[in-house]
Amino acid sequence: MQPEQSSILHASQAPLITVKGTHRQIGQQIGEACRDQVKHSLDSARRLLDSTFTDLELTWDGAIIQSRKYIPFAQERYPQYVEELQGMAEGAGVGFDDLAVLNAMEAVTMDALHLTKCTSFAVNQSLTADGSVLVAHNEDWLPEDENDVYMVHVEAEDEPPFLAMTYGGLLPNIGMNAAGIAQCCDSVYPTDSRIGIPRVIVSRAVLAAKTPEEAIRRMLSPHRAAGYNHLLAHDSGELYNVEVSARNFAILHGTDGVVVHTNHYLDPHMQAIENEPDELIDTRVRYFRTLRLIRQTSMHTVKTLQAIQRDHVNFPNSICNHAEKEDYPLDREKTINALVMDLTEKVIYLAWGNPCTNSYYTYYL
Ligand SMILES: [Zn+2]
Repeated sequence: MQPEQSSILHASQAPLITVKGTHRQIGQQIGEACRDQVKHSLDSARRLLDSTFTDLELTWDGAIIQSRKYIPFAQERYPQYVEELQGMAEGAGVGFDDLAVLNAMEAVTMDALHLTKCTSFAVNQSLTADGSVLVAHNEDWLPEDENDVYMVHVEAEDEPPFLAMTYGGLLPNIGMNAAGIAQCCDSVYPTDSRIGIPRVIVSRAVLAAKTPEEAIRRMLSPHRAAGYNHLLAHDSGELYNVEVSARNFAILHGTDGVVVHTNHYLDPHMQAIENEPDELIDTRVRYFRTLRLIRQTSMHTVKTLQAIQRDHVNFPNSICNHAEKEDYPLDREKTINALVMDLTEKVIYLAWGNPCTNSYYTYYL
């Protein structure tokens, strides 16, 4: 089968929701505007638990009980983002408990959801034709959630405005803010996860950071449940991979003007606590492929990064991911959107669905 035949062609661009106010009001406005997407994402999550019950033995009610253990940690450290979720529940007319499950899903399923296979990379002025800082991310997730993708432009009363991509009832965490901070999140698989602040909330907090230091501090919030790799870029050209787990971290700097990350740890100290590294093969293939493609061009532009995002080497587990035909429900994933952030111009170009078949549209911060 040709790659292009296995992906949806979207007739329009992903919706943009513009919101402003207190955290509660922001959540309410997103919930009202995206009621269908929020409800649909909850239905999909329920079906996912139903279809995996034989393995996970987790009902939706059981997942609610589990997620209730995590919320007090979020409430203590970041009450404003719990407020955003409460507002979203009110606006969309769904239960807060249900949204809490969705936002702590990776934790409550004990990371059996091995399906976030994202690819992130960034180049700074030393490798771009016009001196801009460019950040790219392919979001690989359950095919059912592709129709729930939207962009948000958020002006919280106490934070720099930000522009981010999200889907369904998840708090946004992949985007950039007016202070020049951009973040992409890639799943990693540490063995030291615990009950604490869910990753989605920790990474939402990063979008409010005003400096690289503050962003990293937020990634390393005390009592975090686990961690992502956070690809962090600053409009000065500073680039980092901050590899995080519940109790450990490594800060890797893009000294050569480039950073790449997929879903395995790069730092030896973090590799020591990686779960089943010999299962994490396609992520290594995507990592080296991306690095080589970046090095083949000396002067990058938005277009050259978009070309990398469409790459099909190692199909279907390619950078442009089409692996939705896998049999096991927890292993199906595909690229549900691809975005390039121009941190210098404060613009995001987003292709909704696989970037090999869908066009990029422009969103302004
Ligand atoms: Zn493709």
